[in-house]
Amino acid sequence: MTEAVQQSSEGLWSAFLDAAKTSISSHVFETWIRPVECVSYSNGAVTLAVRDQFARDWLADHYLDFIREHLTRHAGVPVAIDWVIHPPASAASRDVHDPLPDEGSQVSESIDTPANKRRHLNPRYSFDTFVSGPSNQFAFAACKAVAEKPAHSYNPLFLFGGVGLGKTHLLSAIGHHLLHADPQTRIIYTSSEQFMNEVINAVRFSTLDEFHHKYRKNCDVLLMDDIQLIAGKDRTQNEFFHIFNTLYDSQRQIVVTSDKLPHEIPEIEERLRTRFQWGLIADIQPPDLETRIAILQKRAASENIALDDEVSFFLAKNIRSNVRELEGALVRVTAHASLSGTPITVDYAREVLAEILSTRAQQISVESIQKLVASYFQVRVIDLKSPRRVKTLVRPRQVAMFLCRKHAGASYPDLGSRFGDKDHTTIMSACKKIEALLKTDPSLRSQVLELERQLDVKR
Ligand code: ADP
Ligand code: MG
Repeated sequence: MTEAVQQSSEGLWSAFLDAAKTSISSHVFETWIRPVECVSYSNGAVTLAVRDQFARDWLADHYLDFIREHLTRHAGVPVAIDWVIHPPASAASRDVHDPLPDEGSQVSESIDTPANKRRHLNPRYSFDTFVSGPSNQFAFAACKAVAEKPAHSYNPLFLFGGVGLGKTHLLSAIGHHLLHADPQTRIIYTSSEQFMNEVINAVRFSTLDEFHHKYRKNCDVLLMDDIQLIAGKDRTQNEFFHIFNTLYDSQRQIVVTSDKLPHEIPEIEERLRTRFQWGLIADIQPPDLETRIAILQKRAASENIALDDEVSFFLAKNIRSNVRELEGALVRVTAHASLSGTPITVDYAREVLAEILSTRAQQISVESIQKLVASYFQVRVIDLKSPRRVKTLVRPRQVAMFLCRKHAGASYPDLGSRFGDKDHTTIMSACKKIEALLKTDPSLRSQVLELERQLDVKR
């Protein structure tokens, strides 16, 4: 494609559009890419006009590399991208262009209007649609308290829980609640990945002032999803650290979610780790059977799905560890049923979910992993649990701990007690050790792979 050196901005852009259309989903293409105008192209610099800053941020976050690579390919020379904000004339009066309330601002376009603030929050994720039970009651109450009176009781609030257990849901619910109480509340809801992209772009486009303004001045409540992904990203951590301090010092609320506890997040600065522990750490555990049933019934009711008790019991009993999967199963069964015009019965659900259920049927247990590893390395299970530090036992023991952590979904303290009352730090360092060795030691890698293969076979 490099032979087609395009000189005009129109030609370059339409070549790009043709290519983009085939490789981006049509929804994204029509919503985000199509409205962009290419206003100039000279000396390797392409200027793209977008309707508002929100569009620019979104595109820069998600499609910058894509756009640049494709333009480079079509232009035959490396291109740099500049953005300008260029509201379409007809849209000038729409609510997204409400004037900025903050008079001290140097930022000319705002992403901080109520309409935009809500944009990132999933409308379904409210407190009303959240089912609380023993597994999440504490986190639920903490989130409600924070939403009622931000920066009053728990700051920061650190929400911790496994995948698909409702962290993002609760985080968004705080946002909805605050905006409902006062639509002027300046909420920033973001994920640490998106935040990192913003940092990168702010550096690249020399818009750090704007970036700091957004997070330090123009923000009353910061809701940051999946903070564990900040691991190893020094610049991002540094920016977050300063934002944290500014917000915290001026009594503004910070809520973060994570699938790891602060001390479990690798490669994170100590000063951030400590700050996460300043407020409240609220954990979400997998819901019990009754809560799972209630979640299904609530979801079914809200979508007008006729779901009888037997079926919800069947689904809840069989899908245990992750609410997202539970809901996925419900959606799948109802979709199949409505397409084939079949009523939803337990037998029907079993048939539709056969594949999922067979892999779910036996969650791999700590005991089964210990047994497998012991027999693989020809030692006894009791040796794996013993404190003896002879060479022939140390490695198998570490491998067993690592596999239990990875596949049995058990916590470090839990594993500590199931490996002969060891401290959770012992388990942690064993896991780290194996993780590190897997990168450098091919023979260990193949042993672990073989063990995992055997675990899969037994699933
Ligand atoms: P996480 O962010 O912890 O991975 P999510 O918040 O995305 O999980 O939740 C996954 C799905 O499960 C979402 O659709 C969410 O609405 C739903 N969900 C999780 N917990 C509950 C709950 N207690 N009540 C209702 N829905 C829930
Ligand atoms: Mg989430």
